[in-house]
Amino acid sequence: MGDPPGPYDCVVIGAGPAGLSAALNLIRARLTVLVVDSDRPRHAATMVSHGFLTRDGVPPHELRRLAREEVESYPGAVILRRRSVQTVVQTVGQTEGRPGAESEPDSVSHPFTVVIAGRSPSAAHSVRARTVLVATGLRETLPAVPGIRGFYGMSLFSCAACDGYELTDRPLALIGETDDLVSRALLVAQWSRPLTVLTNGTAALGAGEEARLAGRGITVERRRIDALEGDRGALTAVRLVGGDRIPVTRGFVRPLWHPVVDFLAGLLIETDPGGHLVTDRAGRTSVPGLYAAGEVAAPGPQQLIVAAGAGARTAAIITHDLLGVRIPH
Ligand SMILES: Cc1cc2nc3c(=O)[nH]c(=O)nc-3n(C[C@H](O)[C@H](O)[C@H](O)COP(=O)(O)OP(=O)(O)OC[C@H]3O[C@@H](n4cnc5c(N)ncnc54)[C@H](O)[C@@H]3O)c2cc1C
Repeated sequence: MGDPPGPYDCVVIGAGPAGLSAALNLIRARLTVLVVDSDRPRHAATMVSHGFLTRDGVPPHELRRLAREEVESYPGAVILRRRSVQTVVQTVGQTEGRPGAESEPDSVSHPFTVVIAGRSPSAAHSVRARTVLVATGLRETLPAVPGIRGFYGMSLFSCAACDGYELTDRPLALIGETDDLVSRALLVAQWSRPLTVLTNGTAALGAGEEARLAGRGITVERRRIDALEGDRGALTAVRLVGGDRIPVTRGFVRPLWHPVVDFLAGLLIETDPGGHLVTDRAGRTSVPGLYAAGEVAAPGPQQLIVAAGAGARTAAIITHDLLGVRIPH
């Protein structure tokens, strides 16, 4: 099948829980929707996801498959998989008055051009849209520890609410390089102790903070990590520079999170200091007609069901905005 030509009422960028939940609700509102997804969810590393009501314990790729299946069961629903949006251009105002613009009847009613990468640069494809919903989530940078990626999602996790329950009653490590490790450690200790906080020689942690953690039975280790020991994702110990080893089989990491918004570089759009798209409570960004839902917009809680809820809420708002009516509540 060739690329669908559009135009669309909404192009949804990203088919995680936020994007697919939005798409489902938009389609059910009888709007025309194209979903574009590069198929690189950040939770791809993990085998099981928890806490999604009715789907607790389901592999995350299965959750996405079920969601895609539900969306695609509606006539006209299109999900372009393994395809990236390169850029979003706001065309209104640029084509108005230009000779020949009258032959482009959707340049005003569909002010967005969404450029989708093809297999080669010349094969890029663009579609017009009345609105765009950005649901592209986050990228992660893990602490600078050799081989840590191989343990991520298997023995080391980032979300205590998602994976803490399965890690109860065993010694845990918390590896991070940021200055918010104290609050993370206090949270993780809700699930299990003893807990060792490893700063990898980087995270700033004051003596007072260390004492506060000690009062909760949490140890701080400030030396750099030389290596993680274990096999095929199963952690057995953390080896410190100098040779000391901390036997531990499970733990958490504190990644750096980067909202995926590079393809919006051509738009004057407001972001917060962490790079998240700034929205109102309904998901409207500072660019009229451009919306955001899920982790690209909100600083947590970083959970599947929260992202799905945000997608559904923003879909309702897009539907109302396109009609020019306000939700009374
Ligand atoms: C290791 C790990 C384990 C987790 N476990 C759980 C758990 O057990 N329970 C839970 O509730 N949560 C869990 N999470 C968190 C959960 O993954 C997120 O809350 C959720 O995926 C966020 O949904 P989202 O729709 O905002 O973004 P995502 O699910 O990240 O989806 C974003 C999508 O946008 C696509 N995309 C990005 N850029 C483009 C582009 N330019 N063009 C087209 N598509 C693009 C990506 O490929 C991706 O498919 C876990 C996360 C990690 C990292």
